[in-house]
Amino acid sequence: GTSSLIVSFGEMLIDFVPTVSGVSLAEAPGFLKAPGGAPANVAIAVARLGGKAAFVGKLGDDEFGHMLAGILKENGVRADGINFDKGARTALAFVTLRADGEREFMFYRNPSADMLLTPEELNLELIRSAKVFHYGSISLIVEPCRSAHLKAMEAAKEAGALLSYDPNLRLPLWPSPEEAREQIMSIWDKADVIKVSDVELEFLTGCDKIDDESALSLWHPNLKLLLVTLGEKGCRYYTKSFKGSVEAFHVKTVDTTGAGDSFVGALLCKIVDDCSIIEDEARLKEVLRFACACGAITTTKKGAIPALPTEADALALLN
Ligand code: ADP
Repeated sequence: GTSSLIVSFGEMLIDFVPTVSGVSLAEAPGFLKAPGGAPANVAIAVARLGGKAAFVGKLGDDEFGHMLAGILKENGVRADGINFDKGARTALAFVTLRADGEREFMFYRNPSADMLLTPEELNLELIRSAKVFHYGSISLIVEPCRSAHLKAMEAAKEAGALLSYDPNLRLPLWPSPEEAREQIMSIWDKADVIKVSDVELEFLTGCDKIDDESALSLWHPNLKLLLVTLGEKGCRYYTKSFKGSVEAFHVKTVDTTGAGDSFVGALLCKIVDDCSIIEDEARLKEVLRFACACGAITTTKKGAIPALPTEADALALLN
């Protein structure tokens, strides 16, 4: 497409986050509803930065599904790629906040609406108009969503989109680690841009060292840019011709949820208008500094969506 539309494909769900940490789910005195789902966060990250974004996925035709679609629209994300399932309900995640700050997730997915998206019901016109197509659904493993995922990727690629992949590994959702690795690697070589976290890199390579060798073992011949995000240590980047790193910004972190999605949204927002940035190290580094600033800002507030920055927020941290 000739527009600068970024289409993000995957799930949107609600995290029920307990109001206190260090207690079990059953002992939580109350929960806050936090809309999330990495691909939906990325779409909102793009829109908040002033970019054009659409979300493609399936929600339940229930109170939560319509609430989530409303949140996308309020945030300026196109919702004409959303389907509503008449039978299945919107996916939900119940979070346990451990005393050490880590999060554990329990999912309602039996099956949830996102898993039931079919290839036939995709809005292909919308998908074909994407300049960048970002994907990384946690439902990659289940039919019919898997076929829908593959068809959407193909349609976008054929129409000339740049493909961006974030595996969003959530191990509890997969039958086995071997299957998770196999499924993720089965769509690996379709992507032009891949972003993995340090945890995902360890898992995918089976090697507990985060270095250039382990990152480059994930390289594939058609890849243009590989990013490894390292939380408060910033990120590493790899292209065909150069590699390097960008440091994180020092901020007062309260909740890291959504930092990676914010980082990806910021990166895509900048490369959607000019993919040649990827081939120019100085310009790429500038864009990654911007993406790291956006990721850092997202850690300074609770939740993902409320913490996603505007361009002005990011520029204030950069300068
Ligand atoms: P993911 O959410 O995918 O695990 P990260 O947590 O690595 O991704 O975050 C993505 C980016 O956000 C990092 O590369 C970094 O630039 C920024 N970031 C994340 N956590 C922090 C932090 N505690 N302090 C500063 N920047 C952070």
